[in-house]
Amino acid sequence: MADRKCAGCGKITDRKNLIKITRDKHSGIFINPDTKIFGRSVYLCYNNACIEAAFKKNRISKALKTSLPEELKGKLINGF
Ligand SMILES: [Zn+2]
Repeated sequence: MADRKCAGCGKITDRKNLIKITRDKHSGIFINPDTKIFGRSVYLCYNNACIEAAFKKNRISKALKTSLPEELKGKLINGF
């Protein structure tokens, strides 16, 4: 099962349909990291409404248990 849940709308779908945001304990926050990056992850649809909703409800920082870099939202909205 590769299904994951969007932190914005709550829809469950295949991981390949979602943006993955991973917090690496040592080196920070990565968007769609390569396979060498491990850590807590959160998923979002490729959809600005979901990105906005997840930020508005602080779901990304809660899921990753960290504060987020200022530029993260802009990167996601602008297609990183
Ligand atoms: Zn969504």
